[in-house]
Amino acid sequence: MSQLWSPNVRELTPYVPGEQPREKLIKLNTNENPYPPAPGVERVLREFSADHLRRYPDPTSSALREALAQALGTTSANVFAGNGSDEVLALAFQAFFRQDKPLAMPDISYSFYPVYCRMYDIDSQRFALDDQWRVDLDALASDSGGVIFANPNAPTGHGHGREAIAALLDKVTDRVVLVDEAYVDFGGESAVPLVERYPNLLVTGTFSKSRSLAGLRLGYAVGSPELIEGLTRVKDSFNSYPVDALASAIGIAALEDGDYFEATRQAVITTRERTRQRLDDLGFEVLPSQTNFVLASHPKHDAAQLFVGLRERGILVRHFNTETLRDHLRISIGTDDEMDSLIEVLSDLCR
Ligand SMILES: *Cc1c(COP(=O)(O)O)cnc(C)c1O
Repeated sequence: MSQLWSPNVRELTPYVPGEQPREKLIKLNTNENPYPPAPGVERVLREFSADHLRRYPDPTSSALREALAQALGTTSANVFAGNGSDEVLALAFQAFFRQDKPLAMPDISYSFYPVYCRMYDIDSQRFALDDQWRVDLDALASDSGGVIFANPNAPTGHGHGREAIAALLDKVTDRVVLVDEAYVDFGGESAVPLVERYPNLLVTGTFSKSRSLAGLRLGYAVGSPELIEGLTRVKDSFNSYPVDALASAIGIAALEDGDYFEATRQAVITTRERTRQRLDDLGFEVLPSQTNFVLASHPKHDAAQLFVGLRERGILVRHFNTETLRDHLRISIGTDDEMDSLIEVLSDLCR
């Protein structure tokens, strides 16, 4: 704590991401994709001329937004691009959620949301999940300064269908509803087609998970031109060039390869279902998942101890030491081989 910091910064509790270890571990803790990015990405890296970097990138990322619009079935006027979806979320909090009323969110969701609330001085009202650990959309519809949730949700894995999101939007019309679709490509149903009907809907997405580009930092939002303009106003008051020229070229190459995208996301889904079955065989309770992770607990074994045991045997998963989650492990879906190693160690630890 330093007196040199702005008062507001002294009050912050920053987000703590999953560990990026130096030693070689089987890394199932940050929901990264186990497969490399599309082959076209390698090609861009080989052929990109360093001379391009002399100049500033396109401040509006128009080529990337075009490619995104095409992939998502919308138009580029409805698309905003940023330096990872975390950055897009930060801009959205600033642009839309600094209201007199608190922001409505689930009590269990992406733990970055409360961090942004602190950062931007936004009160939040947190609503419990329902008895099956699904986001309670009816509760989120109550009076607020805005609504945010991940769909599918993290770290629970459940996703609501488009009709349910539309029903929420029929009730909430005068404030922004932000649906964070970081995991939607692993079995969720996207709300992007609703953007045309609901000018207060903002959908965010990322290249970090289903496009295997967490290290690149690319994210986006889809919404009405009114919302995109709001984001752009904040962006241009903060950093006019968030997406660099190389990231933009790589993002476009990743979006172009639809077959590779399809094959890798299907592989993750298949491995997830196989993993769920095998965890179930070991006595774990595993929530259904439409994401690239599962949330599991064992009635006879302490999650924190399993976490340590796995770590000692070279496997890193995520354990959240909070009241609601401390009995659970969040396990990212790796390759079949990696998940075989996980199951082998867990069978040992649960003996
Ligand atoms: C991973 C994740 C993000 C962040 O994605 P980046 O594009 O890597 O910043 C946002 N929301 C949720 C729910 C996530 O799990």
